[in-house]
Amino acid sequence: MNSFKVGILGATGAVGQKFIRLLDQHPWFTITALGASTRSAGKQYKEASNWIENTPMPERVKNITVLECRSEKFQEVDFVFSGLDSSVATDIEADFAKAGIPVISNAKNYRTDPSVPLLIPEVNPDHIELINEQRFTDDGSGWIVTNPNCVAVPLTTSLKPLHDAFGIESVVVTSMQAISGAGYPGVPSLDIMGNVIPFIGGEESKIRQEPLKLLGKLHNGAVRYADFPVQATATRVPVINGHLLSVTVSLKQKAGLTKVREMMENWKSPIHDLNLPSAPKFPLKVHDDPRHPQPRIHADSDGGMQTAVGRIRQAHVMDVSYIAMAHNTVRGAAGGAILNAELLVQKGFLKVK
Ligand code: NAP
Repeated sequence: MNSFKVGILGATGAVGQKFIRLLDQHPWFTITALGASTRSAGKQYKEASNWIENTPMPERVKNITVLECRSEKFQEVDFVFSGLDSSVATDIEADFAKAGIPVISNAKNYRTDPSVPLLIPEVNPDHIELINEQRFTDDGSGWIVTNPNCVAVPLTTSLKPLHDAFGIESVVVTSMQAISGAGYPGVPSLDIMGNVIPFIGGEESKIRQEPLKLLGKLHNGAVRYADFPVQATATRVPVINGHLLSVTVSLKQKAGLTKVREMMENWKSPIHDLNLPSAPKFPLKVHDDPRHPQPRIHADSDGGMQTAVGRIRQAHVMDVSYIAMAHNTVRGAAGGAILNAELLVQKGFLKVK
């Protein structure tokens, strides 16, 4: 396969750095351009970024001059990944799409747009067809695909086998979210050390809405959302990486714990046989040890791309309770976007210029 030239928008941020780390050895994608704000533009990447990854900054990006995020500066790339701050992503991502440069975005801005796929390849790969409904360019060369909020990923992935087998009546979820989810510098240390903050602005509405689009059915070029209420409480905890969720579900068709567990354990992702480079071998792993999963021990499992589930148990209110966990900046951000791009290559939507 020819190598794709890729750009990263928001390359200096927490998600941008994760893109750089994950793409450094990627078999299909080569980073050729990096973009950030005017504060960083014109500087070499090694000067512009405050590198927070725990592996060294890849040699190949150190001397790349950071560009302003304007499409005319990125004419050589085949597509861009976006880790842009949501306050600027709407206009910048549209500018790239209108210029015929596909955007694979992490930002929330286009997730609920009816013609933009909100994608977890293992959950709703068919939704990529929505791209055909986008009108950024006359010839269809520019478009946007998004990946979900970092809590919506493990929540939806764990709900998917239950939704397919039994139908979901309602969900109650409390998230315990890592501080890396707030970007850099993120939450002040005096606020979070030895503490829990019981509120994350704007988070709960995303957790309520995004699973319904992801579990929705594509019909005549539009997604019919799944129809069940989600009660969400989002909290920030002093963990570096890995969002942990306490989930309780009410099922439409009642089922015993054995059956629920069997559905989760035996669930086979629809992209399993595509062997995409970033796809986890086990996208949904059920743990037996009641002390698992834990962010520090399991966030990096299967390349950080796995959703781990544990403590599946009878609920005293509603039907079944369990814990779910995934790496927020890998599976819930950069890694998820890279897997989206791999699926889009495999399905012929992304092409080398
Ligand atoms: P971050 O660390 O604050 O990084 C923000 C990036 O946006 C930086 O590269 C910054 O460049 C750039 N930027 C800011 N203003 C800009 C402008 N006017 N023009 C061009 N670039 C600009 O944030 P993050 O945590 O990486 O998050 C990035 C995006 O991913 C957000 O939309 C966030 O909601 C989403 N997301 C994050 C996570 C997570 O776990 N962190 C998970 C899922 C989704 P400068 O360095 O030059 O300011």
